[in-house]
Amino acid sequence: MAAKIIDGNAVARSVRAEWKLRAEALAAAGCRPGLAVVIVGDDPASRIYVRNKVKACAEVGLYSELHEIPVTAAESELLTLVESLNRKSAIHGVLVQLPLPKHMDPRRALEAISPEKDVDGFHLYNAGSLMTGNSIFPPCTPYGVMQILAHEGIPIRGRHAVIVGASNIVGKPMALMLLKEGATITICNSKTPDLGAMTRLADILVVATGKPGIVHGDMVKPGAAVIDVGINRMSDGKLAGDVDFASVAGHAGWITPVPGGVGPMTITMLLVNTIRAAERSHAAQRAPAHA
Ligand code: NDP
Repeated sequence: MAAKIIDGNAVARSVRAEWKLRAEALAAAGCRPGLAVVIVGDDPASRIYVRNKVKACAEVGLYSELHEIPVTAAESELLTLVESLNRKSAIHGVLVQLPLPKHMDPRRALEAISPEKDVDGFHLYNAGSLMTGNSIFPPCTPYGVMQILAHEGIPIRGRHAVIVGASNIVGKPMALMLLKEGATITICNSKTPDLGAMTRLADILVVATGKPGIVHGDMVKPGAAVIDVGINRMSDGKLAGDVDFASVAGHAGWITPVPGGVGPMTITMLLVNTIRAAERSHAAQRAPAHA
């Protein structure tokens, strides 16, 4: 059986269309959602990411600001900027693009963002809220994977989900989100002795390691949903995922390609979180003050 190839761009278009309406309704009520993106230094990949984020905001009618800080700046300059964005009423989401230069502490920068504007979902408050099942801003990439699963009608409850990769931004939050929906979870990392023995158990297999081709067809249960989060720039300049697409597509049930799978969903969920942040801010302003 050949796997269904999931069109992440189509899922992204459908989610964006739905949330664009919510953004328009908010704007009509006098609250246009706004995102501030902060980049430090000249890393070319980061520059492409932030440009795409700003462009995506315009496409769904969001206001956005791009703040560029030179690589030579002191950490205090970044923290002062974040604090000013926390106070700015036109801004509902603040994102500090990672990685930061070595002399800046990413944890300190992420903790400086107000939890109410933490649309990447990386603040400790939001990590904790995800852990307890009450997340406001789920981290964008695993949140995007959940949307793909829902859009494709892939069952989660009672299924075994195996996640390869245990980072704070993908693997761990992915596990918590699938657990909340009733999956049984296995998380693998670089010390897992027999990766194939784990991946073959998966009804849903999410791979996020940054190791191209780490999962082959003989490591996948027939009919499984295989979600490839990896983005790897190969020596020929092309992008490849962590999954060996050719061998896995032959017998998985569903597979996401790279590019065009999970990637488009990450920015989409950033827009969703920003619109949600604006909705929360608007509702809080309209709520009667407690005595
Ligand atoms: P990290 O480097 O932070 O984490 C990688 C994880 O993979 C670690 O937990 C590591 O284990 C694990 N790992 C590494 N090698 C193996 C192995 N041989 N077997 C099992 N596990 C292994 O990466 P990220 O989570 O940030 O990113 C992962 C990939 O996803 C990258 O390709 C990245 O570019 C991509 N990505 C894509 C996004 C998108 O929008 N589509 C967004 C974010 C990331 P250990 O903990 O033991 O070190």
